[in-house]
Amino acid sequence: MIAELVISSQASHLSCSKCGQSYSLDGIHHLSTCCQKPLLVNYHDSSLLKKTDLISRVNSMWRYFEMLPLADPDNIITLGEGMTPILSPGRLAKKYGFDNLFVKDEGLNPTGSFKARGMSMAISKAKELGIKNCVVPTAGNAGGAMSAYCAAAGINATIIMPDDAPQIFKDECRAYGAKLVVVDGLIDKCGELASEIANETGAFNMATLKEPYRLEGKKTMGYEIAEQMDWQLPDVILYPTGGGTGLIGIWKAFHEMISLGWIDENRLPKMIVVQSSNCSPVVDYIHGKLINVESFQDSIANGLAVPKVIGIEMIHQVVKESKGYAVTVSEQEILAGFKEFNSTEGISFSPEGGAVWSGLKKLVKEGKIPKHEKILLLNTGSGYKHFNLIKS
Ligand SMILES: *Cc1c(COP(=O)(O)O)cnc(C)c1O
Ligand SMILES: [Zn+2]
Repeated sequence: MIAELVISSQASHLSCSKCGQSYSLDGIHHLSTCCQKPLLVNYHDSSLLKKTDLISRVNSMWRYFEMLPLADPDNIITLGEGMTPILSPGRLAKKYGFDNLFVKDEGLNPTGSFKARGMSMAISKAKELGIKNCVVPTAGNAGGAMSAYCAAAGINATIIMPDDAPQIFKDECRAYGAKLVVVDGLIDKCGELASEIANETGAFNMATLKEPYRLEGKKTMGYEIAEQMDWQLPDVILYPTGGGTGLIGIWKAFHEMISLGWIDENRLPKMIVVQSSNCSPVVDYIHGKLINVESFQDSIANGLAVPKVIGIEMIHQVVKESKGYAVTVSEQEILAGFKEFNSTEGISFSPEGGAVWSGLKKLVKEGKIPKHEKILLLNTGSGYKHFNLIKS
């Protein structure tokens, strides 16, 4: 299905993101046991894989199979995730004077968000490891995605979601046959319950960055950005940041492609973190401010309402290394960005997409991003789950 070529994963081992200690790829892993930090997948230095090999490959994220940590392609659980289009929002570009504005439309993934990438990878790996039960805390989209991929894999799914998440996110999980548990609180409270359930029942805890494989699925956005832009990366990438997996993953992909000899190490984009002012732990951390978890509230961009961010140091590192920025936008700005993009471009924009659009305009006003640069917005989810916001 994938290609004519011999395909074997080049994954070599796992390593602790803090101290670098190595772990074998075999067996089931969560956080590193040395530092209780996320584990990262490492790959052999391989010149085997050429970018021209990709031409005949399947039109999904699995075209990068060698750079994904699955041993046997028969274990792939796919619903057609990845290879989402990069679009040119021409009317808005013209209105605001941008020369090179692009959107990668992740809302076109299965279950309407880029969470499908992470779950396609992680549930395929769960199948390979013989796991029968998975549990995940979620603001919404990760739950829908895990439910769908577990249905396809024949794995039992338990989804823990805040009670005030939009109804459609709850319905979606049940429609895909998952067990839904709602919790009074934000996603951190859901995380506590998911850990308890995992401890008591032995279910595999699929929480963001607490296992090493969702990151690997999400990193395929980085490979696609390079391939779809003819290996000339943008100058700037704006990312709506919750747990930050996608941002860390894209940056990881860029470094892997440098090792593969596919891209120029001197032409990496500035990576921009955008969060809601209702819940901005990552922006506060990067700006050296005290993080007041108790003050955080929900956001209409519910994927961004993550008060405790386990990968916060890695996100900071990416922003620093890339000479990027971190910026907050208000709930009003998120809503305005969401409405403007949907109504002007006809691209089904999520509130998270609205947040990066408003974040871009803010950074341009502050003189941090020149309008002539090649700018890529990530619209991480579909607008369809949020069109009821149009009434407000
Ligand atoms: C989960 C989610 C995010 C945040 O993603 P992270 O990689 O965890 O930062 C952004 N947008 C949408 C639509 C999401 O579902
Ligand atoms: Zn360690």
